[in-house]
Amino acid sequence: MIEPPIPANEIERVAAVHRLNVLDTPLEERFDRITRMVCTALGVPMAAFSLIDETRQWQKSNAGLPGYVIPRNQSFCAHVVNQDEMLTVPDTSKDMRFHDHPAVTSGLGVGFYAGAPVHSPDGFLVGSLCAIDTKPRDLTPEQLQVLRDLADMVEAELRADLLQRDNAKLLSLLQASQRQAMIDPLTHIWNRAGLNEILKREWSEARRREQPVVVAIVDVDHFKKVNDTYGHPAGDLVLQSLARRITSVLRTEDTVGRMGGEEFLVVLPNCKPEEMLQVLERMRTLIAAVPVETGNSVISFTLSCGAILVDPKAMTVEQAIEHADQALYEAKQAGRNRIVLAR
Ligand code: GH3
Ligand code: MG
Ligand code: MG
Repeated sequence: MIEPPIPANEIERVAAVHRLNVLDTPLEERFDRITRMVCTALGVPMAAFSLIDETRQWQKSNAGLPGYVIPRNQSFCAHVVNQDEMLTVPDTSKDMRFHDHPAVTSGLGVGFYAGAPVHSPDGFLVGSLCAIDTKPRDLTPEQLQVLRDLADMVEAELRADLLQRDNAKLLSLLQASQRQAMIDPLTHIWNRAGLNEILKREWSEARRREQPVVVAIVDVDHFKKVNDTYGHPAGDLVLQSLARRITSVLRTEDTVGRMGGEEFLVVLPNCKPEEMLQVLERMRTLIAAVPVETGNSVISFTLSCGAILVDPKAMTVEQAIEHADQALYEAKQAGRNRIVLAR
């Protein structure tokens, strides 16, 4: 395996990666939809949008891959940030750089790789959008163009970010180093510490604007049975997929985090009462209707949810969570796979 070279402008390049305010942030549907499109358009099982920082290949979004972080010296994508052009490896077993790479010889069994460079709004090579297959293959010129076009769409999202910094979920107020400890490594959404921080900020913002906030707790029904039947790794895949799907139905201003285990917290700021049920029902029905496929099993499961719409001036975050939790308990008692609103 040949380790990826370090680009000549590395210091400026890494500074540009950090300026993006994307590193160590949770899943976002606007990037997840692009990696899904890579899979569909190119007919590959795996895709990722990655940033390369000092030491890591950090994936903002992936489809079909087991984790989100790879050491930089083992990263395929890190080769892309040293050359300002598409990197295609039609057959990894025949490529000097990769033939004895652990992801080729075992594990994922990467047989094919194509990565298009992704630039920051100020023109630095910050990462890549890549397509991966388990078997060797060739892409047609049209498919290569699709990958380039989708990488351009990623860049457009990064530019849009700069304009919307103010309402980008208050992320810019948190340092990347702070955020890193606030992301759940399995599901790539906020963990409990992250949720606490976001809730604190949302609460004071909503008070200031005199807007209601929805707090909802979501819990997988009979998740223990999923683990018992399909195994713990399959249970992990279900949790990852669940985090993505919840993210996909939320608005950009909404937040989802993992409270722990198979329990998630959803925060919908400035939400009208009629919107609240719409969003939560969309989430519940999507989960119930589409099973998770894990390679050898198709896993169907449902969610229960307890929610409350609160005036943040009238109660604390902790009280709101308590009410939502009580409503969740009632949803479970009433037979699961349902949403109960706190009275
Ligand atoms: P209920 O419908 O009442 O919520 O039943 P349940 O089985 O979902 O709830 P219970 O609290 O009995 O079980 C939760 C299970 O979630 C038990 C625990 O092993 C599993 N779990 C917690 N964290 C993880 C994880 O990170 N990965 C996997 N695979 N399982 C986890
Ligand atoms: Mg449960
Ligand atoms: Mg639970």
